[in-house]
Amino acid sequence: MWDRLLIDCHVATMDPTVAGPFGAIENGAIGIQDGRIVRVGRRTELAGYQAQSVEKLDGAWVTPGLVDCHTHLVFAGNRANEFEARLEGATYEEIAAAGGGILSTVRATRQASEAELAEASRPRLKALMAGGVTTLEIKSGYGLDVDAELRMLRAAGALGASERVRVARTLLALHALPPEFAERRHEFVELACGTMIPAAAREGLAEAVDAFCEGIGFTADEVDALFEAAAAHGLRVKLHAEQLSNLHGAKLAAEHHALSADHLEHLDEAGAATMAEAGMVAVLLPGAFYALKETRKPPVDLLRRHNVPMAVATDCNPGTSPVTSPTLMMSMACTLFGLTPEEALAGMTREGARALGLQDEIGTVTAGKAADLCVWRVERPAELCYWIGMPGPERRIVAGVDA
Ligand SMILES: [Zn+2]
Repeated sequence: MWDRLLIDCHVATMDPTVAGPFGAIENGAIGIQDGRIVRVGRRTELAGYQAQSVEKLDGAWVTPGLVDCHTHLVFAGNRANEFEARLEGATYEEIAAAGGGILSTVRATRQASEAELAEASRPRLKALMAGGVTTLEIKSGYGLDVDAELRMLRAAGALGASERVRVARTLLALHALPPEFAERRHEFVELACGTMIPAAAREGLAEAVDAFCEGIGFTADEVDALFEAAAAHGLRVKLHAEQLSNLHGAKLAAEHHALSADHLEHLDEAGAATMAEAGMVAVLLPGAFYALKETRKPPVDLLRRHNVPMAVATDCNPGTSPVTSPTLMMSMACTLFGLTPEEALAGMTREGARALGLQDEIGTVTAGKAADLCVWRVERPAELCYWIGMPGPERRIVAGVDA
């Protein structure tokens, strides 16, 4: 006797071993036991099974719970004032000179306690959850000192512990150079490698380490040192790469067996080939592309040709992607980057899970995986991308329980 049996539904399993678009099973059924999917198939195949609770979904579509594999969700304050100033004619230079930009978020974040950070971030988390997210990644990166970085990671952990959602944490150790290190960047990289990473690893506060490899961020050599330190402490790595220029960050990340390289607007063919060889995921972030009014798109055809899995994420952050709608990102991935609706949904489920190293646990509706599901009142899965920012699923199930 199972715990739950969902019937009278169609299932977009997103499981590549299930033939056809979206790995779809029409007139399907899903058996759930102890928080996990025990069986998924056509209703007729599950006819002999019984469950404590049998629920009819009236022809709804069930998908895997959405996975947002790249967010900077935890921060204090926001930058709506700068958004407004820019539209009233202020330049980036004027805003920076007035103390704006990323450093304004750093100041606010440094002043906030762990509890204040969690409460400031909770509405954003709730919005993502309402949009269908059952797993998200949260990065640090606005503390830029040891205490504030660890505090951000603890706040992310507190959010995950207090809401029905899975949280994967990433130490974004090299995001920006704090002003007090302006003349001593070498010392800041040493602090990240020698103190931040060991502390985060010792306390179990992060599963991965990230950096911003860019002309206005950190050099390939600095990132290389950071990734060496991450490996020495048993942490996986990922990289903000090739967003504004091509510093060959994807190749560097591949050499360190990275989970993903993210943004990738300026990725070239050699970079795509190396990512494929290393089994990395390309994380596409249409929110930042939109907000920055970029014109150069990530090379989607190249990624397809090299069979690099593509994930899609919100990049939720106060500067370049103040986004809390996962379905809006799926829509923009289609409209702005040319993904098919199936690729976009795979990007927010199966490939998002792969980008977090969680592909054996979540990301498809497959027997043996966690029962993280969304129930959508749509006629076909493509509607999730067709509506410009669909509000969210009718029901969200995490580990077999309605959330
Ligand atoms: Zn980012």
